[in-house]
Amino acid sequence: MSDQEVRHLKDSTTTTTFRIHALQTGCVQIKLAQLRRRRGGPARVLVDHAWSEWFPIHAWAIEHPEGVIVVDTGETARTSEAGYFPRWHPFYRTSARINVAPEQEIGPQLRQIGIDPEQVRTVVLTHLHTDHAGGLHHFPNSEILLSGNDYRDAHGMLGRLRGYLPHRWPEWFSPTPIPFQSRTFGPFRQSHALTAAGDVTVVPTPGHTAHHVSVIAKVDGVNYFLAGDTSYNEALLVERIPDGVSPRAKTTVRTLETILSYTAEEPTVYLPSHDPDATQRLRNRQTVPPAT
Ligand SMILES: [Zn+2]
Repeated sequence: MSDQEVRHLKDSTTTTTFRIHALQTGCVQIKLAQLRRRRGGPARVLVDHAWSEWFPIHAWAIEHPEGVIVVDTGETARTSEAGYFPRWHPFYRTSARINVAPEQEIGPQLRQIGIDPEQVRTVVLTHLHTDHAGGLHHFPNSEILLSGNDYRDAHGMLGRLRGYLPHRWPEWFSPTPIPFQSRTFGPFRQSHALTAAGDVTVVPTPGHTAHHVSVIAKVDGVNYFLAGDTSYNEALLVERIPDGVSPRAKTTVRTLETILSYTAEEPTVYLPSHDPDATQRLRNRQTVPPAT
């Protein structure tokens, strides 16, 4: 567990003990045209020859008194098996390199920190891309929440064409659509509370996928924004630069602006899945700097 950071947080007013664990389930390399959008968008990613550095694939565990909530499930070691990714799919043929050892999967990592994956109450998927849904098989007993529309887009042959791997989901996979309420949460128009205490909330953050969501856990006056792939790092958020695979770049930029208006009002540690600095910010409770 050397490359994981564990943050122990204590809310002194309610005496709620609340831990957020960063779990790194291997690494991924993407094209630079995916990291920052270039002219041509997703098509440009396929022909770009420039690779990024290796980025972490993070998932998160919120050890809450009401039960453990896992946000994203990371990637599986099975990705190294020949034929795991569809050979016919241009994205997997040209634009992604993934490296996961069996012990880096989320199940073994949770056990290492004393959490039995089969006891996890709720799993929230920010979206259904393989490096967020690859560890689903570790959670046969959990309620799995995700955007109902994201599930629809990822399902079936059309989903496979879009780059999802629905044929790799566990047979029992039958997620619950997030019952978003039209209740504002800061600048977010909809929200859904994941705890009775109201301190863990899921909000829509469309862009990277059309129905992507994020989870905000508030402890001791600080918000931990588990951001999935809203951007690949904090600098891209602050600079409002969309990624190269969002179906509509404008939607992504609008979401980045909404997140920034949230972080302007609320001290927020921004934790996207692939940011190499995310675990350090979690450990140091380092919030998004005020807008300049
Ligand atoms: Zn993604």
